[in-house]
Order: sequence, then C-alpha cells, then structure tokens
Amino acid sequence: MEYDIIVIGGSANGAQAALSAVKQGVSVAVIEEHPSIGMPEHCSGLFSYWGLHEIDNMPPDDIIFNNKIYGSRIIAPNGKVLTVRKDKIHAIVCDRAAYDAYTMKKALDAGITLYQPYRAVTAVREDDRVNITIRSKDEELQISARMIISAEGIRATIANQLGLQGPPKNEFVNAAQFYMYGLNNMDPELVEVYQYQKYAEDFFAWVIPMDKYSAKVGLGTKKKYASKQLENMIKEHPVLRERCEGAEIRRRTAGRIPTTGPVKRTYADNLLLTGDVAGQTKPTTGGGVILGGMAAQIAGTVAADAIKQNNTSARFLKRYQKQWKKKMSRNLKMMRLVRKYMNVLSDKEIDTLFSKMDSKGILDDIEKYGHVDDQATIVKKFMFTWKLYPFYLRTSGRLLKSIFTQ
Ligand SMILES: Cc1cc2nc3c(=O)[nH]c(=O)nc-3n(C[C@H](O)[C@H](O)[C@H](O)COP(=O)(O)OP(=O)(O)OC[C@H]3O[C@@H](n4cnc5c(N)ncnc54)[C@H](O)[C@@H]3O)c2cc1C
Repeated sequence: MEYDIIVIGGSANGAQAALSAVKQGVSVAVIEEHPSIGMPEHCSGLFSYWGLHEIDNMPPDDIIFNNKIYGSRIIAPNGKVLTVRKDKIHAIVCDRAAYDAYTMKKALDAGITLYQPYRAVTAVREDDRVNITIRSKDEELQISARMIISAEGIRATIANQLGLQGPPKNEFVNAAQFYMYGLNNMDPELVEVYQYQKYAEDFFAWVIPMDKYSAKVGLGTKKKYASKQLENMIKEHPVLRERCEGAEIRRRTAGRIPTTGPVKRTYADNLLLTGDVAGQTKPTTGGGVILGGMAAQIAGTVAADAIKQNNTSARFLKRYQKQWKKKMSRNLKMMRLVRKYMNVLSDKEIDTLFSKMDSKGILDDIEKYGHVDDQATIVKKFMFTWKLYPFYLRTSGRLLKSIFTQ
C-alpha cells in the first residue's frame, strides 16, 4: 500500500488538498478516523459567498444550503446594536458535515483512496518515504508515501512526529454551539455577533440563523466550560436573552479554535501542513474553511509537483509557504492585530467604541468595505477614521504592551 501522497484528516481542508493533488495525476490516500465525514460537527458552517467561489467549491443549493446572509447585527455588551446590510448575498449558512461530505465525494470521484475509520498513529521517515501506521477497531495497517499533507486539525499528532508544530495549545479559544429552535424576532438574513468579555472572553458570541426561527447560537471564550458560559450569557445579555427566551436547545456541539494566526513553518522534508494545524484560521472570526481551503489547494498542487519533479525536500516544498503567504499573509496579520486589540478592551470600552462607531459615515464604510475574508481593507479604513482617534489614544497603550510582552 504505497501512495505518492497521504493526507491525514478527511475534513474540509484534507478533502480539498487531496482533490487538488489527485487532479494532477498522482496517487492519493486520505486517512480519516471518524466513521462519518464531517462528524462530529464542530463548526457553524458560515462561509463567505466570495470565498466559496474563490475555492471553486460552491455546494448545490438543494443539498446543503441552510440560509443566505446579507449582513450582520453587531451587538455591544450594553445591548446597543449596529446593523450592516448589503444588497448582495454576503455569506451562506451550510450544514458543515454535508459540506465536508460533498467535498470528499468530489475527491473520491477524482480517484483518491479513503481509509475510514482509521487513525494515523505513527509516522516515521525512511529513505525519502514516510511510513504510517493506521489503526481501526479491528486492524492495524502499514501504508507509505513520499509526501504527507497533514490536515489533521489542532491536535497535530502526525505533524509533531515529523518535526513540525501546530498552533500553541494554550492560545486556543474554547467554543460551544447550541442548535436552537423557536427564537424570537430574528432577521434570517442577518448574523448576530455579540461582544461580551464577561462570558465570551477574548472572542465573541454569535447567532447564525438557519431560518426565521432557528439558529446556531454559539460562543468562543478563553474561559473554561464554554457551554456553561453560553448558558449564562443567554440568561443575562439583554439582547441574547430576549432572542432565546422560550427557545429549545436540540443539539449541542463544541470545539476549539486557534486564534494566533499561522504557525512559523508549514513545510519540512516530505511534509506540508494545511488548515487549522497550520493556524490558517482567521484570528478575528475563527473561520478556517475558506482560507484553509485556499491553502489546502496550494498544498495539494505543490505536493503533486514535488512527486512529479522527484524532489520532496524542504527546500523544494518551501514554495508552498511562499504561495499561501502571498495570498493571505497580509490579511491574517491584520486580523491578528484586530484580535489582540479587541482582547485588551473591557466591556465598558467596547460600549464606548460602539457609540462612536454609530455614525452614518462609519457604518457606510463597513457596508462598503466589510468583507469576511478580506478584512485588511476595512481595518485600514478604521485606522484612518479620525473620529475614533481619541478612543485609540486612550486604549492603544495596552495593545502595544500585549504585542511586546508576548
Ligand atoms: C464552534 C465552531 C464554529 C466554527 N464556525 C466556523 C464557521 O462558521 N466558518 C468557518 O469557516 N470556520 C468555522 N470554524 C472553524 C472550522 O471549523 C475549522 O477552521 C475547520 O474545521 C478546519 O478544518 P481542517 O480540515 O483544517 O481541520 P478539522 O476540521 O479539525 O479536521 C481534521 C480532521 O482530521 C481528523 N484527524 C485528526 N487526526 C487524525 C489522525 N491522526 N488520523 C486520522 N484522522 C485524523 C479529524 O477527525 C478531523 O476529521 C468553527 C469552529 C468551531 C469550533
């Protein structure tokens, strides 16, 4: 059982990497430990419309669209609401498990081999190949390849064994999400983003409508027990409480989100990292399917090139990092800065910031330049918004401190 490329992880980004590699005519195997692709679900499935086109993976309406989103309500700790609405579809809400299965089906149709449910337990380099031991409930197998693409998410077991690090574990945000039914006064075209350090410390809470009455209600936090924090926030936050009053929680999911931006090195001899394991996740929103998907496509192509050119050295594979950085590094750096800034603000300061942002000019800018995947443009706009300068002057000292003490 020898392959040109083995991809560890059969979620969205693993499937994308495998698909773009197999299209180049090389042999590809994917190892996925769970019996069902995309399960257990650990995502809200909110993807930008632009991004899905960019990675050429727009799923068909009839399979997995839950809803179409045109804008957002951003809600301050004191309940003040800023509404931004666009006239075009901005994002879609997907069933994430179905999205992963759809992507994997494309890879299977293109000719990959899927080992499922098998966990990759060890990886050892030997004579320019990597031998992988994979295990299911009933058996253990040895498979090998010249190239490994790790798309294994934040656990990074195989990446570590082959000498690369995933994102720092002490920096993950804990996330919990409830599927809620019977919500009140929702606009199904708008997602809601709640800033509230008290419970959603160093992140935020969200309501992502699936239709007029049901939504994925979630929260990310640096605190422990995200699910408990979400329950408390639903009880206490003035707007969220009203939204959820009388609604039923039918399902609960949880996960962890890296928010520190990309890891330093995403390549080594015979190895590339892509997706969450590479920290290609937006530090502001925690979204990792579009940027991760873009990087995964590059990883698949570069890995296939390495096979064709008979060169799987780190020196050759460095081009992967160059290429994905060229596409998204500037944006990820900006997002990291914004995340750090938001993290140093108290709830009171966020209330003040919201009151200053509530002016036609600023909201128009957000409407015009706001973009889930390209956030650098709107951040630059904010940097040059004089009305916010007194606020920046009062608070930016702590931002600088947090940057330099890291
Ligand atoms: C609550 C929550 C909500 C989110 N909402 C959004 C959102 O709306 N939009 C968005 O873009 N992103 C969202 N994200 C982030 C998104 O889920 C991740 O960025 C994305 O799943 C990363 O994909 P991945 O393929 O890199 O890793 P993962 O999705 O983590 O997949 C890794 C896969 O590898 C498998 N695996 C790991 N180790 C092994 C092994 N040794 N052997 C075999 N298989 C292995 C795992 O079982 C898993 O299937 C959210 C995250 C959370 C926690």
